[in-house]
Amino acid sequence: DHLSETDWEDVEDTLLLADVGADASAKLVDELRNDARVTGTSDPVQVRDALRAKLLDLVGVDTDRRLNADKPGAAESASLQPSVIIMVGVNGTGKTTTAGKLARLFVAEGKKVVMGAADTFRAAAADQLETWGAKVGVNVVRSDKDGADPASVAFDAAQQAKDANADVLIIDTAGRLQNKANLMNELGKIRRVAEKVLPVDEVLLVLDATTGQNGMAQAKVFAEAIGITGVVLSKLDGSAKGGIVIAVQKELGVPVKLVGLGEGPDDLAPFDAPAFVDGILA
Ligand code: GDP
Repeated sequence: DHLSETDWEDVEDTLLLADVGADASAKLVDELRNDARVTGTSDPVQVRDALRAKLLDLVGVDTDRRLNADKPGAAESASLQPSVIIMVGVNGTGKTTTAGKLARLFVAEGKKVVMGAADTFRAAAADQLETWGAKVGVNVVRSDKDGADPASVAFDAAQQAKDANADVLIIDTAGRLQNKANLMNELGKIRRVAEKVLPVDEVLLVLDATTGQNGMAQAKVFAEAIGITGVVLSKLDGSAKGGIVIAVQKELGVPVKLVGLGEGPDDLAPFDAPAFVDGILA
C-alpha cells in the first residue's frame, strides 16, 4: 500500500498552495519519494513527519532571529546612541503598521523610541505613522510639506533621536515599485544620509504573506537598493502561508525575524519556525 501518485500530487499541491515555490516543492517531493522507496515507507503519517522535518531544516530551527538592537552588546552601544531601524517594502505590505507595532514592543521594554516618516510622497502616510505614534506614545518626526526630500526627514529624525537620547529610531519609507530606479535612489540616499548621524543597525523588509511568488522579486529589488538585515512576514493571520520566505531567506541570506498577525498594536510576534511549518502543512 504505497502512496499513490495522487497522494504525492497532494503533497506537492500543499507546498505549492503555501507558496513554497515550484522548484522547491518538486525537489522536496522527489526527495521524499526517494527516501520512501529506500526505506520502504508507505505510511502517510511517516511521510508527513519526514516532510515536516525537511521543511524545518529549510526554514532553519536554530537561526538567530533576534533584532540587531536586541543582540548582546547592543545595550552598551545603545547607551551611547540610538539603534536605527529602517522599514522597507512595497506599499500596502504593512510597513507603517509594523513600525507602529515595533515601537509598541520597544516602549513596553521601557525603551525610548522615535519614529521618522520618510514616506513624504503622500501626507496620508505620515498621518498614519503619527496616529500610530499617538497610539503607542512615541514622537514622530515628519515634514510639514508634501514631497519633501525623504532623506532630509531621515536626517532630522536621526538628529532628533540622538539629541533626545532615544534608544531606538524607526524610519518608515515609501515603496512605490512603479518607479524602480527612483525608489532605489531614494532608499539608498535615506540610508546614506541617516548614516551621517547614526549607524543603521537594521533594515527590515516587510513582505506580505498574500503576495506569493512576487515576494522574491520584491526582496531582490530592496536588497539591491538598501541592503536587508531581516524580513517581517506580515498578514500571516489570514489564509496565506507565506512559504515564499523560505526562498527569500536563502537568496538574501537573512532571516525572517518577525511575523504580523493582525492589524492591532500587539499583533507582532517573533518568527516561530515550527509554527510556520505547521501552518504550511495545515
Ligand atoms: P504600508 O503601505 O506598507 O505602510 O502598509 P500599511 O501599514 O498601511 O498596511 C496596509 C494594510 O494592511 C492596513 O490596512 C493594515 O492594517 C494591514 N495590515 C498590516 N499588517 C497586517 C497584518 O499582520 N495582518 C493583517 N490582517 N493586516 C495587516
